[in-house]
Amino acid sequence: LQAQFSQAQKMESIGRLAGGVAHDFNNMLGVIIGYTEMAFRQVDPSHPVFAKLQQIGKAAERSADLTRQLLAFARKQTIIPKVLDLNETLEGMLKILRRLIGEDIDLTWQPGKGLWPVNVDPSQIDQILANLCVNASDAIAGVGKIIIETGNTSFQEAYCTHHPDCVPGDYVLLAVSDDGCGMEKKVLDNLFEPFFTTKETGKGTGLGLATVYGIVKQNNGFISVYSEEGIGSTFKIYLPRYQGEIEEIQEEGLAEPARGN
Ligand code: ADP
Repeated sequence: LQAQFSQAQKMESIGRLAGGVAHDFNNMLGVIIGYTEMAFRQVDPSHPVFAKLQQIGKAAERSADLTRQLLAFARKQTIIPKVLDLNETLEGMLKILRRLIGEDIDLTWQPGKGLWPVNVDPSQIDQILANLCVNASDAIAGVGKIIIETGNTSFQEAYCTHHPDCVPGDYVLLAVSDDGCGMEKKVLDNLFEPFFTTKETGKGTGLGLATVYGIVKQNNGFISVYSEEGIGSTFKIYLPRYQGEIEEIQEEGLAEPARGN
């Protein structure tokens, strides 16, 4: 429990720090980008300085991208939980996900039957799914397969004693599996650390899984990860079953009750 607490605290202070730095840094990057563009206009493309200016411009743009991501990470978004059928939320995202991962990767959707409802902000589900699928497609780097699954699971005390984040009860599972490169122990041990990345500069920020962790924690869920080098990885997200009134799902317009004239 101690470890989880310090992780959550660390996330928050890093978020605050990163937000402050990113904001000022973004302004200074604006100055660099502005002057680089001015210099561009004064230099002939055949001059050796032109290519160097191009490199400066590109690096500044990449840095601006990174600070934008940092700001998004640090920003306290207003969370509006809704009672959801996770299958419907996921189905709404499949088209975007297919575009995100490209044509070389086969995306299989295996919805669980009779899924229990969850009470989560749908944009948080989108964020979880996008982060897991981008990581999966980066791990595949070529032709491969991603499977997205859902299902109902109940955990007893006996399981939870082996899993520090689990409280016994009913959960809805969202799993994303890939047949990519898998992870060595050193990576698995640091997976949810903010800014931990094995990707080249400009490609990874190390904030994807830290964000996923934060969202799942906030919703009283937990995550398990299975991975084998050269075989692939599975990320299992467990969100607590919503136990309250079910009417709210109907208010979403999913099932309009029949009315007589
Ligand atoms: P980023 O994607 O920006 O590197 P993340 O926090 O999303 O940051 O991921 C951290 C690291 O975890 C990645 O750099 C990668 O090494 C590893 N990782 C995450 N998901 C997978 C996966 N599905 N397969 C293999 N490695 C993964």
